[in-house]
Amino acid sequence: MSTMTSTSCSPKISVQGITKVFPLGNGQFTALDNVSLDVADNEFVTIVGPSGCGKSTMMNVLAGLETVSSGQALVDGVAVNGPGPERGVIFQQYALFPWLTVRENVEFGLKTAKVPKAERRKISDHFINLVGLGQFADALPKMLSGGMRQRCAIARAYAVNPSILLMDEPFGALDALTRVKLQEQLRETWSAEKRTVVFITHDVDEAVYLANRVIVMAARPGRIHEIIDVDLPDQRTEETRLSPEFTALRNRVWNAVYHQEAADDSALAPSATTA
Ligand code: ADP
Ligand code: MG
Repeated sequence: MSTMTSTSCSPKISVQGITKVFPLGNGQFTALDNVSLDVADNEFVTIVGPSGCGKSTMMNVLAGLETVSSGQALVDGVAVNGPGPERGVIFQQYALFPWLTVRENVEFGLKTAKVPKAERRKISDHFINLVGLGQFADALPKMLSGGMRQRCAIARAYAVNPSILLMDEPFGALDALTRVKLQEQLRETWSAEKRTVVFITHDVDEAVYLANRVIVMAARPGRIHEIIDVDLPDQRTEETRLSPEFTALRNRVWNAVYHQEAADDSALAPSATTA
């Protein structure tokens, strides 16, 4: 609920007036135009919007992989200026080490952090079981389906205990049925473990099913168009998708995404350095 972020407790993530301008030909392109957003601790927000509206740029800024032209992003009140262990990132492409088993992948970050073997095993067991890969702990990624690989990536991200999970269209490459199952599993994992999640998608159903709040962005220039609270029960199931409340929210988000004003060419500006 939006009231979560307007209370006195400071936000987990605070995006403050971020503008990102990329050079483009002889001019420049405004990928993000003065975007501000607070995300509360343990909140699950989804960001949805048309292709090119700056979703990935926003994610990369939060991950510390992209600089800003102006404004700043704060995590726990501290300005982001690079990647950090408190932020786990999951992309669309399965970033698993192909030569390591599921368990070795999940334990990789723990090993790097010099967590003792017995403790590593306990943590990997927990998260491998949580994502339903208990039977596949010793399998190599090539033996897994796409959905299973993303489950492994989620287990690996959780294992190092980040307080924030940043996910950029992690289910984008999966078939519709697998996708729905992973949404259910991710929401269940979040219910059990919490964490602050920023999840990017261009799938409206996915955005509503997963989130406490849906951030709808618009393109050219990339900006926040509307923020929609998702007042669905915390525990979500297959039935949630069939409820009239879900349908109403989905229609609202759909309208916000697909009935945006026509592209504004003011996003494209001649560069100050060219005549
Ligand atoms: P989304 O993820 O919402 O599809 P992106 O954040 O990837 O959008 O991109 C937003 C806009 O910024 C797009 O028009 C894209 O072409 C442009 N853009 C992204 N990265 C760069 C870059 N490195 N250089 C120039 N333009 C970029
Ligand atoms: Mg993107």
